Amino acid sequence: MSSYFKNTPDRKGFFGEYGGAMLPPPLIPHFKEIEEAYDRLSKSGEFIKDLKYIRKHFQGRPTPVSYLRNLSEISGGAQIYAKREDLNHTGAHKLNHCMAEALLARHMGKTKLIAETGAGQHGVALATAAAYFGMECEIHMGEVDMKKEYPNVVRMKLLGATVVAVTDGARTLKEAVDSAFGSYLGQADKALFGIGSVVGPHPFPKMVRDFQKIVGMEAREQFLEMTGELPDIVAACVGGGSNAMGLFAGFIDDEDVALYGVEPLGTSTSLGDHAATITYGEDGDIHAFRTLVLKDSEGNPAPVNTIASGLDYPGVGPEHAHLHKIGRVNYTTATDKEALDAFYRLSSKEGIIPALESAHAVAFAMREASNHPGCSILLNLSGRGDKDLDYVVETHGFGE
Ligand SMILES: *Cc1c(COP(=O)(O)O)cnc(C)c1O
Repeated sequence: MSSYFKNTPDRKGFFGEYGGAMLPPPLIPHFKEIEEAYDRLSKSGEFIKDLKYIRKHFQGRPTPVSYLRNLSEISGGAQIYAKREDLNHTGAHKLNHCMAEALLARHMGKTKLIAETGAGQHGVALATAAAYFGMECEIHMGEVDMKKEYPNVVRMKLLGATVVAVTDGARTLKEAVDSAFGSYLGQADKALFGIGSVVGPHPFPKMVRDFQKIVGMEAREQFLEMTGELPDIVAACVGGGSNAMGLFAGFIDDEDVALYGVEPLGTSTSLGDHAATITYGEDGDIHAFRTLVLKDSEGNPAPVNTIASGLDYPGVGPEHAHLHKIGRVNYTTATDKEALDAFYRLSSKEGIIPALESAHAVAFAMREASNHPGCSILLNLSGRGDKDLDYVVETHGFGE
């Protein structure tokens, strides 16, 4: 069988015309080192064995696939299933790549992990991995985000990480990225930079995708065992795109399975009100790679808005830009309101409180179910909603 993954990305990290590594010269040797180490280790029996052990005995994999009987009934039409990444340790899919990045660091002889974080979810997952491996961890976070997401600051500190408050500019994610890269450059001999999604310069989009593939591999086998068939439709929310690439990976060579990425439409289709990069963006560069970007009138990354802070990014992983271009994946949107409605429905009808990010995929499934009678939809429940409870209830109450 010809596999999509065999030639994607190419040796320079391009998915078609997207991706690559447009690095400032001082960073080039460090990313080369990461690329070579990953090439070698991804074929090493010991690395693979270590990763399997961690997934089973620390993360709690495999996570199940659940049939959402009640949600299917009220949505009318298709049968809806969910891959339960909310049951992964720390409550989301992010640990899948963070544990693997930390394992890579360990095999490279590094003793420290460095990263930026926006809402704090990536910082918490990486700090968890660092604690497991007994490594140092340094997380850069904008001062504004630290106030907004204080519980995650507390978590990171409990996990033993140093949280560096970034006080430049708007004091949010963009400044945190610059600060983290600056710090990494000064200690790259002993530290690994841990990117939080299928974004950034090569080899991260490929590496993070490979580390997330386990989601799709498990889901394909589990779905076949449950139903005797493959799903008709597979769907996941897209921020940077790691949980979506993970689930899609299991089905990308199955031409009859339709793949859907669900982007956050926020409060309206006007620039600044949403973060639907593939739907409304144009070709451009961001964070040292080529992809689709939401741009302002001066061509800079535009402000974005969504109820789900984990989807709040004016770029997208280059592989998604490519899969959009070649037409293998369909990209669509869900609004804040649809996501909130899905959040309440899944909670009260199925006993599963989803992350607001994942609720975008649930909203898509609820909407599409009636258009596809007799079909099956498998969605990625990328994380649990505990982190969102206070915000949802304070701002929107308990639903109708
Ligand atoms: C961070 C996050 C996302 C978005 O990240 P992707 O790389 O697009 O998957 C989605 N769901 C949850 C629960 C998250 O924490």
